[in-house]
Amino acid sequence: MAYSTYDICIRGSGIVGRTLALLLARHRLRVGLVESPAPASSLPDIRAYALNHRSQRLLAGLKCWPAPELATPVREMRVTGDGGGHTRFEAEAMGEHAMTWIVDVPALEHMLQQACQYQSGLDVLSADEAGRVRTALTVVCEGKHSATRAELGVDYDVTPYRQTAIATRATLDAPHGGVAWQWFSHTGSMGEILAFLPLGGPQGQEVAVVWSVDRERVDDLLALDDDGFAAALQLASHLQPEADGSSAAAATAAAPDVVSVARRMAWPLQLGLARRWAGLRTSADGKAAGSWVLAGDAAHSVHPLAGQGLNLGLADAELLGALVGERPYWRGPGDMHLLRQYERTRKAEIAPLVAGMDGIQQLFAHNSGAARQLRNLGLSLFDRSGPLKQFIARRAMG
Ligand SMILES: Cc1cc2nc3c(=O)[nH]c(=O)nc-3n(C[C@H](O)[C@H](O)[C@H](O)COP(=O)(O)OP(=O)(O)OC[C@H]3O[C@@H](n4cnc5c(N)ncnc54)[C@H](O)[C@@H]3O)c2cc1C
Repeated sequence: MAYSTYDICIRGSGIVGRTLALLLARHRLRVGLVESPAPASSLPDIRAYALNHRSQRLLAGLKCWPAPELATPVREMRVTGDGGGHTRFEAEAMGEHAMTWIVDVPALEHMLQQACQYQSGLDVLSADEAGRVRTALTVVCEGKHSATRAELGVDYDVTPYRQTAIATRATLDAPHGGVAWQWFSHTGSMGEILAFLPLGGPQGQEVAVVWSVDRERVDDLLALDDDGFAAALQLASHLQPEADGSSAAAATAAAPDVVSVARRMAWPLQLGLARRWAGLRTSADGKAAGSWVLAGDAAHSVHPLAGQGLNLGLADAELLGALVGERPYWRGPGDMHLLRQYERTRKAEIAPLVAGMDGIQQLFAHNSGAARQLRNLGLSLFDRSGPLKQFIARRAMG
C-alpha cells in the first residue's frame, strides 16, 4: 500500500479543524485535512455564532472573516431573569465598538473551505485516503461525537442537560439596533433560555434565535407550523419581568415583535469533557504511530447559553498552531512536551468558564422559590457590581 506522509493530519473539517489546518500550513508544515462527506440531503446550518474579539482577530488574520452584513457587531446585550432580575452590557461603556459579533455560520464555513482549497501545503483528504497516511501528529477535531477519540480509548465525561436547543431565524417588526437579548424563564419543571442575536448589520431586522427548552417540550414546539412557532417565540420574548416591575427591568426585556420565522433545527445539550487531551498512538501491529491531540468540541462541549463553544475551540487551535508551528528546531510536530503544555494551558483556561456556565445553567434550572430569588437578586446585584461586571464581560469578549 502506498502511503502519503504529512507532518500533521487533522481529522474533522469543521470550523476548528479548518482554522488549525490553515494556521499550521502557514507555518510551512505539510498538513492533511480529513473531510467527512456531507450527507446528501443536508441543509445549510441555520445558526449564527457569537464570536468574541479573540476569534475575530484570529479569523481576520486568516482572511476568513465574513463581510460586514454577515458579521453583525453587538453593541448592547440585555439579559432578563425570571423574576425581575436583569443586567445589560454596553460595548461603548467598555470603549469597544462591539461586545461580540454574530456571524452567519454557512458564510464562515464557506470562507474557510475556500481558503483551505487554495492553501499550499494543505491537502484535503477523503476517509479512504486518511487510512494511508503516515504522520507525526494526529489532531482530532471531529466534534463531540468523535469516533477517533473513542478508538483512542479516551474517556469523555458527559452530563446531559435535559434541554434541547432549537435554532431558527426570526424577522422582527423593527430594527434590532445591534442589541442581543437573552431571557431566562420557567416553563413546567425546567428553566429555559431564549436568545435573540442581531443579524444583517446594525439596522437589520433579522435575529438568530437559540431557544434552550425542556426536552419534554421540544417535540411539541418542533411540530408547530411557522405561524405557531412565531407566536410561541413572541410570547416567550415578551414575558413581563414580574418581581420588582421596575422600568429598568422592563426596558431590558423589551424587544420588537416577531413577524415570521425560518425553518428550525435542534441539538440536545450536554456538558462534555475529555479526561486526556493528548497521548501516543500505536498502530494495529503495535508499532509507534506518532502522537494524538484533541481540539474543539472533541475535547470539550458546553451549553450555548454564553455563546462560548466555538470561541473555546478557536482558542485551542490558536495555541496549538503557535506551539507546533513555532516550536524549537529540535522538537518534532508530535513532541509530547508541546502537547502536554497545550493540554495544561487550555484546561486551566477553560475550567472557570465551563464551571461558570454550568453553574448559571443549574441555577436557572431549579424551580424552587429560593433558587428563583437568589438568581434574580444575583443578576441585579451583578448589574450594579461595576468592576466585577466589567471583568467578566471582558473575559467573555476574549
Ligand atoms: C444551538 C447552538 C448554538 C451555538 N452557538 C454558539 C455561539 O454562539 N458561539 C460559539 O462560540 N459557539 C456556539 N456553539 C458551539 C459550536 O457549535 C461548537 O463549539 C463548534 O461547532 C465546535 O466546532 P468543532 O469544529 O470543534 O466541531 P464540529 O462543528 O462538530 O465539527 C466537527 C467536524 O468533524 C467532522 N467529522 C466527524 N467525525 C469525523 C470523522 N470520523 N472523520 C472525518 N470528519 C469527521 C464533522 O462532519 C464536522 O464537519 C453553539 C452550539 C449549539 C448547539
